[in-house]
Amino acid sequence: MPARRVVVATRNEHKLRELGEILDGLELVPLPDEVELPPEDAETFAENALDKARTAHEATGLPAIADDSGIEAKALGGRPGPRSARFAGPDATDEENLDLLLSELAETEDRSVAYVAALAYVDEAGSETLVEGRCEGTLAENPRGSGGFGYDPAFIPVDTGPEDNRTMAELDPAEKHAISHRGRAARKLAEELR
Ligand code: IMP
Repeated sequence: MPARRVVVATRNEHKLRELGEILDGLELVPLPDEVELPPEDAETFAENALDKARTAHEATGLPAIADDSGIEAKALGGRPGPRSARFAGPDATDEENLDLLLSELAETEDRSVAYVAALAYVDEAGSETLVEGRCEGTLAENPRGSGGFGYDPAFIPVDTGPEDNRTMAELDPAEKHAISHRGRAARKLAEELR
């Protein structure tokens, strides 16, 4: 049986490849250049992911997958959340966003953080499936490591155990994949689509 073709509502090659590794049995195709994605301005990861998946499905007629992700700090009531990519301003770099988070948590004892990823799937008939993956961690005071991206240099995941203080940026990609919010959400979606 030929693999089901699914359009992925992202311009990010890295996400397309990562999803393809987990969602085997699907032929993932990139979003055509002319399709414009809606702004990620909803209050939740789920709404942003759904908005993008609906747009990609309506524009192409194909089943569509979209994601939205970010970091939540407990002491900040879940901020920056869906605003993670633009925390320090609309064109902020990863480093500026991380510096702002570190400074907002500088005086705080509770350094609990969580990565969250929502994945939305809209099938050929327009039916919607939504899954979420989480990865709990604590925010290191000083960034370290060169792998990953975004907040990874200061994110110490809980899942590597209390003896292991490596940040996400110090894990190899397979280790990150196994415990990450995106990996977990993608495996849940794979289950749902089976
Ligand atoms: P988006 O899902 O492409 O909108 O990305 C949201 C933002 O959340 C990214 O720009 C990063 O700042 C942050 N983020 C999401 N996932 C990760 C991750 O796995 N590591 C580090 N930062 C992440």
